[in-house]
Amino acid sequence: MKTAQILNVLRTAAVADALGVPAEMKIRGSYQLTGMTGNGSWPQPAGSWSDDTSMTLCLLQNILEQGTYEDLLDKFEHYMMFGDWTPRGIAFDVGHTCAHAVRQHAINHVPAQQCGDAAENANGNGALMRIAPLAFVLANQPSVAARFAITKAYTTLTHGHPRAVVGSFIYLELLHELLAGQNLVAALAAVKVTLTGLNPDSAYALEVPAYQRLLTENFQNCQLADIRTSGYVVDTLEAAVWVALNATDLRTGLLQAVNLGGDVDTIATVAAPLLAISHPEQPVPADWWQVMINRPLLDQVMVPFAQKYGD
Ligand SMILES: [Mg+2]
Repeated sequence: MKTAQILNVLRTAAVADALGVPAEMKIRGSYQLTGMTGNGSWPQPAGSWSDDTSMTLCLLQNILEQGTYEDLLDKFEHYMMFGDWTPRGIAFDVGHTCAHAVRQHAINHVPAQQCGDAAENANGNGALMRIAPLAFVLANQPSVAARFAITKAYTTLTHGHPRAVVGSFIYLELLHELLAGQNLVAALAAVKVTLTGLNPDSAYALEVPAYQRLLTENFQNCQLADIRTSGYVVDTLEAAVWVALNATDLRTGLLQAVNLGGDVDTIATVAAPLLAISHPEQPVPADWWQVMINRPLLDQVMVPFAQKYGD
């Protein structure tokens, strides 16, 4: 992918996050967003991006520095404790499972790969929401096993249950197929085949059925009423893919995502790369990008990453 297109994908995800922040966890149908607004769910001005983007910036910078997994957890800690990687120096939205992992690392000195809570009820979307840039790193990695291992390593820093790992893997494999030129329908079919390659006895293969609905042929035709929007990793991935499958263009797709109700900043953040790679001719809406707070910090990390992985 061209450098400018990668930058567009990264910026679109951040814009999607900020679009959704004012409606985070609001009830579907109780509001209607038509653009970038402030306040609402958080006392934050328009253009405030949240943990999704902050932790994505940590990942981007870590990859640029070729840092260790411990280094990445250090960055997460600096985000949560000191407000680094934020629009205005304040972390206003930190997920429980991510915070738990950072404490495990910072206070209890648990090895990075064991910091993620492995409990079944710790399957939130906190790893999924930051993982998309790995797709560019893995775009030329021909080995599925290698892609899986790297996905697992980055996910388990905060989310140790195999369902969260499989969620990240399905998402990154979808992006992998899109980057290879497939459309999203074909990508879903390809990923379904890829998943059959998981060792059938592994804990990961046992979690594939959790994503069965997403991988059914007519998932696109699900009714809105059947799309759940909690912070559960399965719900978030389903909602994001459903939006991307049904969107006619980037802008309306992002608005559909943030108007679903529920954990919409993350749903929109996860949907954004699916939409932006599927519609490479559509730039991040300029009127939204211009409202984003602390654009220099975003670009300070996103531009060199795009240059590193772009054609
Ligand atoms: Mg958030």
